[in-house]
Amino acid sequence: MPIIVLDPGHGGTDPGAMGNGLQEKNLTLTIGLKVKQLLEANYSVDVRLTRETDRYVGLSERADFANAPGALYFVSLHHNAGGGTGFESYIYPGTSSSETGRRQDIMHKEIMNFLSGYGLRDRGQKEANFAVLRETAMPAILLENLFIDSVNDANLLKDPTFITGLSNAIASGVGKALNL
Ligand SMILES: [Zn+2]
Repeated sequence: MPIIVLDPGHGGTDPGAMGNGLQEKNLTLTIGLKVKQLLEANYSVDVRLTRETDRYVGLSERADFANAPGALYFVSLHHNAGGGTGFESYIYPGTSSSETGRRQDIMHKEIMNFLSGYGLRDRGQKEANFAVLRETAMPAILLENLFIDSVNDANLLKDPTFITGLSNAIASGVGKALNL
């Protein structure tokens, strides 16, 4: 079975972004666990999480975790902060015309299809030299799912129906990107 690695950002002593009563590390884990459940319910895949509890995991350790068993795809889950709103996705610089970029196109579109129903802003398909994108040997994507420090975004992130819908969109995007 193909191995897919989901990477709930932050954890343990590293809470990630905080605001409006939310901590990024808790949201990324909740969504990671849901996406794993959905993927394994719908496809014949072996889905592994870089962490399944609230613990600290280093960035290189996350990449190694996917590289060692030869995972097919690496999906890093994050939430933004810093005074914006909406969704953006990242791949490693210079990979937009490769399989990595093709999968980003599919994932980004699938997730925005869901988010646009809530009037959320598409901040675009971006590139960045993030460690987990650079050090993973397989195509990788990093999702910034809304802004924790935006009241509007945070209210959605507190809504279990929204979280389930977002998790569904991510799982469906992975399924389409990998032709599962
Ligand atoms: Zn983060």
